Amino acid sequence: MKQVLAGYKLTVLGGDLRNVYLIEELAEQGAFIKALGLPVSCQNNIVTLSSLEEAVRDADAVILPMPGVNEQGKLFAPLTDENYYLTREIKDSLKPGVLFIVGFANNYLKQLAAALEVELIEIAEMDHVAIYNSIPSAEGAIQMAMEMVPITIHGSKAFILGFGRTGQTLARMLSGIGAEVYVVARKPKDLARIYEQRYIPVNFKELEEKLKVADIVFNTVPSLVLPADLIKKLKKDAVIIDLASNPGGVDFEAAKSYGIQAVLAPGLPGKVAPKTAGKLLAKVLPDLILKYRNARDWRERNE
Ligand code: NAP
Repeated sequence: MKQVLAGYKLTVLGGDLRNVYLIEELAEQGAFIKALGLPVSCQNNIVTLSSLEEAVRDADAVILPMPGVNEQGKLFAPLTDENYYLTREIKDSLKPGVLFIVGFANNYLKQLAAALEVELIEIAEMDHVAIYNSIPSAEGAIQMAMEMVPITIHGSKAFILGFGRTGQTLARMLSGIGAEVYVVARKPKDLARIYEQRYIPVNFKELEEKLKVADIVFNTVPSLVLPADLIKKLKKDAVIIDLASNPGGVDFEAAKSYGIQAVLAPGLPGKVAPKTAGKLLAKVLPDLILKYRNARDWRERNE
């Protein structure tokens, strides 16, 4: 493997199992890695630490978990019992010009990054990241569906709400297994593309009428698109799998009251295919780090 990250010091803070594999990949690309809140063992160019200050000291880039921190600054670190809070106290340990990389940054993290004077990059909404991520997400959603319904996916009527990066991957995979795929979108150009790709296009306005035939509903829209009155139209044995970011797009209380199985399924890549998800992340991070470093060097030379 090319040692594109040789000479770089990276810190990986918390996250799920995908970050364990990410560390292996980044180390193979030549980076020196400090890890915190993850079950990795120390090797040649990987060390584990339990102090945040030590972990971030002198790093060129700090890689946070995809969900980052909560509104109290608590690091998303489900693989450790320790609680880590990212605060201004790390400021003195940071190298000037350090880059922070996260999936989604909440207000806390944005304000902290400003106070620490670090560059913060959010990657989850970058097209290439979201498209790579859609692969394990769609597979994971289909795996959940297989476990929840007493029928095969083949021949089932599967509805997908939203035709973005995740919806498109899901549609292609479901169709490949032989499902009858209905895709619900609001833009005429999306409805035209859905038709062109031989799925069944459904306008949101028609959903009330069409939904009654659904066996499985996958939601990818991060807004309330399945309120009580629509859920009521579903068959009693239909299931809903909501992939959209918390709180999802489904009235879960209503689903429960109608006896319809509905689950919110966050973080599927790290759960169902952490190795692939880690490798996919390792495909995109080096470019971002190198690009940022080059841009920073250029700025410094020209200031
Ligand atoms: P995306 O490419 O932005 O697609 C979102 C889709 O939702 C688009 O088709 C968009 O249509 C539609 N949409 C948004 N707001 C809408 C509204 N109010 N009414 C109707 N349609 C609306 O996003 P993505 O990358 O596919 O991700 C979708 C969601 O899944 C996000 O919340 C993401 O965080 C989440 N996600 C979860 C997992 C997991 O493991 N559970 C994995 C990956 C992604 P328009 O173009 O018309 O706006």
